[in-house]
Amino acid sequence: MMNQPVKSLSFANPHPPFLTGVQKIATGIGSIGLLILFVVTFGVQFENRVLWLWISLGAVTIGILLYTWDQYRHEAGGIHHHGTWFSSITNRGTIAWIIGVMLTGFYVLLYFFPGLLGLGEEGGENTGLVGFFDPLSQWIKKEPASQWFVYGVFYTLAILLFGVKFILKYRHNRYQILRTISVMFFQLGFAFLIPEILMRLNQPSMDLKNMWPLNYTFFFDWNIDRLIEGGNLGMFMLVWGIVLIVLVSPALTFFYGKRWYCSWVCGCGGLAETAGDPFRHLSDNSLRAWKIERWLVHGVLVFAVIMTALVLYTFFSGNSRLLFLDSYYVRAIYGFLIGAIFSGVVGVGFYPLMGSRVWCRYGCPMAAILGIQQRFFSRFRITTNGGQCISCGNCSVYCEMGIDVRHYAQRGQNIVRASCVGCGICAAVCPRGVLRLENGSVDIFTRTKELKTLMIDPEEGIRIES
Ligand code: SF4
Ligand code: SF4
Repeated sequence: MMNQPVKSLSFANPHPPFLTGVQKIATGIGSIGLLILFVVTFGVQFENRVLWLWISLGAVTIGILLYTWDQYRHEAGGIHHHGTWFSSITNRGTIAWIIGVMLTGFYVLLYFFPGLLGLGEEGGENTGLVGFFDPLSQWIKKEPASQWFVYGVFYTLAILLFGVKFILKYRHNRYQILRTISVMFFQLGFAFLIPEILMRLNQPSMDLKNMWPLNYTFFFDWNIDRLIEGGNLGMFMLVWGIVLIVLVSPALTFFYGKRWYCSWVCGCGGLAETAGDPFRHLSDNSLRAWKIERWLVHGVLVFAVIMTALVLYTFFSGNSRLLFLDSYYVRAIYGFLIGAIFSGVVGVGFYPLMGSRVWCRYGCPMAAILGIQQRFFSRFRITTNGGQCISCGNCSVYCEMGIDVRHYAQRGQNIVRASCVGCGICAAVCPRGVLRLENGSVDIFTRTKELKTLMIDPEEGIRIES
């Protein structure tokens, strides 16, 4: 009994769970995989790259899966608070800062100094980390790796592995399981495999779910030219991209809210929901943060619209200047500030410090558009049964978009917020079944098994309106 980890549903429990023997072994295995990637980045070369690549990726995979399995096999599904605010990883402690700095550093290298990751310059041979992935890239698309190929592998692996962790953690909740399978599917198939295979076939490639303005290069002249010259498939991609923007997205957002994209399809949302899950409680839910969020995210949207209008003007007129604005200069500024710094370096690098949805909340122009539609033209809302709320605050703490859900729940008000990505975690962590995600009158699987148990427990006499 003495060696059992201390477990509690209280935030005030100062005892983070101890690592079990299996978790220590898993951490060791995973660390070996990371160490191999680390030394390769700093110039260590292995004779048999294929073997060592599989050893490193395999070790990371086994380490994460083994740790996760052992972590959740003895626990009921759902969030357990023990240690959340006392663990150095999840309370912005030293480990969180180390992870944040390493992630940020990796993104800086990825965007601005890919040569330091080993990308061969001017057709030269790859070395370092990028060169380490050459065999895999050759196998998939018959050409050497680029820094974006390496990034794609890491990104996809992160969503898949932490997706498994997320599913185990929320295995009591069908909504969470389904949407996690969905983001794993879209990342693996649409964002990674299909574009890579199309490249292997010398066809125009595109992530078919990545639409403007998130995909801000969609209307760039080189992209339109590339798609037009790409035959039937290229034309299909061009038309599909436009249909997505003007028809599919507004229709789905009307029926389901922005969650159809932000929590079920999008790669940024997919990473935030899976790898970013341990940090969701770090989102600032103050009024000040809400104010900053609205100014920033709509500011980026205006920036994206102006830039795209200039790009299209240049495409059709052949003239790069309109009044005092140069379209090439504006798109370069957007690419640097928003495409690289905000969405990449800050968007993921700051997970351990500012929560998992920094980009989605403050910077994503796609989220801004969908949010406006959701706020004014959508059937989606979160309904609250105020009489049942015990003001525990779980919902507000775990809302990754910093929405003070409890404020609405206490008053029995429906929640119709532009920023809500419909992740459903607020409903999943509510111990009283107060919150329900609904589209009009349609209920969707957010009720947990525990809630059903409460509803039919005759001894407790608890009855929750359905
Ligand atoms: S309000 Fe609920 S569903 Fe919406 S983002 Fe927050 S936790 Fe997710
Ligand atoms: S809605 Fe549920 S989780 Fe939120 S404060 Fe009320 S009882 Fe707690």
